[in-house]
Amino acid sequence: MRMTVIGTGYLGATHAACMAELGHEVLGIDVDEHKIAQLAKGEVPFYEPGLPEVLSRGREAGRLAFSTDFAQAAQFANVHFLGVGTPQQKGSYAADLRYVRSAVEQLVPHLEGHHVILGKSTVPVGTAAELQELADSLARPGASVEIAWNPEFLREGYAVKDTITPDRIMLGVRPGGIAEQVAREVYATPLEQGIPFLVSNLATAELVKVSANAFLATKISFINAVSEVCEAAGADVTQVARAIGYDDRIGHKFLGAGLGFGGGCLPKDIRAYIARAGELGATEALTFLREVDAINMRRREHMVNLAKRAVGGHLIGASITVLGCAFKPNSDDVRDSPALNVAGQLSLKGAQVTVFDPQAMDNARKIFPTLHYAESAEAALQGADLVILATEWDEFVQLDPTQVRGWVRTPVLIDGRNALDSSRWAEAGWDYKALGRTF
Ligand code: NAD
Repeated sequence: MRMTVIGTGYLGATHAACMAELGHEVLGIDVDEHKIAQLAKGEVPFYEPGLPEVLSRGREAGRLAFSTDFAQAAQFANVHFLGVGTPQQKGSYAADLRYVRSAVEQLVPHLEGHHVILGKSTVPVGTAAELQELADSLARPGASVEIAWNPEFLREGYAVKDTITPDRIMLGVRPGGIAEQVAREVYATPLEQGIPFLVSNLATAELVKVSANAFLATKISFINAVSEVCEAAGADVTQVARAIGYDDRIGHKFLGAGLGFGGGCLPKDIRAYIARAGELGATEALTFLREVDAINMRRREHMVNLAKRAVGGHLIGASITVLGCAFKPNSDDVRDSPALNVAGQLSLKGAQVTVFDPQAMDNARKIFPTLHYAESAEAALQGADLVILATEWDEFVQLDPTQVRGWVRTPVLIDGRNALDSSRWAEAGWDYKALGRTF
């Protein structure tokens, strides 16, 4: 099948390359000329394990190309995926829909015949119907557009696997259209493997995505709220999480207490969900998500306060090493990263902050150019008065506490992700502290 993918960021570049991997002919479209030039050369503009190989295979097979030309997109295929950004609006909780609208405005006037647009971006409920009206108003005589919603659930760090073999495929359609038939063809390979395929109306599909993210955020904030009580009561949140997680109604996943969630999805998605519920007159339904957000943001503040205590009450002049600045391991994404937020706050309060991250430092430098970025974990740790584990990259989890002790000035560590073996670090002479555990 031929198809375009409009918006080639984390989601779109991955989707385009993976659709080519499934045997389709794909044209990736973006307004960012630099990004398109990189992708056209076979370079992935961000870090995503396995994606460079999939991108190269698609290009070499002649099934994957990139362009900034919407007229070319209109000619290339009758199926278009929409994966542009939907960030939080400045000064509001609501999602900024200007990019999805503008993609429709740029594409539709070029179309001839019948086209299907499958939206993948995470959008407030009602957006697909609004875009359908917009597309209808822009379509030339003889052209028609059907908008369907096919939300994306991929996780950065596992994006290739999640795109090729997703947990489920969700599709929201209008009655009487051909979008379901189109999606069944696009996803023929995963569907043959028995991956669940759920078809609903547009509003339901939009709500599935935001509800999934709201649930995940709530689970993380739940254990972080418990973590606050654990610290006050002298309990250990990691043991609480382990014990309650054995109940398979609860489960162990997303029950890791620590610095909380960040990234380009969860924080803005729960806020957009709150805003949209308010617009729909269902404000009370989601007021608890404000608390979920507040608990999450408190983690960062709490870490800064703990760090201050750990260096004797004065941040000014203290030499603090922050390990990790990506919002999670196996990603170079620093959008709303708790790790980078903590590093930035400590620096603004006068600490000498050194950061090391295996992949995210170029992105972090753009946001916080004033932090000191080291070349390696070893270089970052030299002479530290305090070490903070902020992103649980495997490289950090594997560090040898005895060796690291030789690099720092004072062996004090705050494990912001409850990721290290506390007894191993304590036995190596470290003053080991962690969020949600007594010390
Ligand atoms: P991103 O910022 O990495 O990419 C968005 C891309 O859209 C950019 O390359 C931008 O240049 C491009 N763009 C903007 N306006 C355009 C236009 N008019 N025409 C063509 N391209 C345009 O964002 P992302 O992380 O890929 O997220 C995209 C959407 O997918 C968001 O709605 C997000 O919530 C959702 N999503 C993301 C993930 C993820 O893990 N990143 C997972 C699931 C869903």
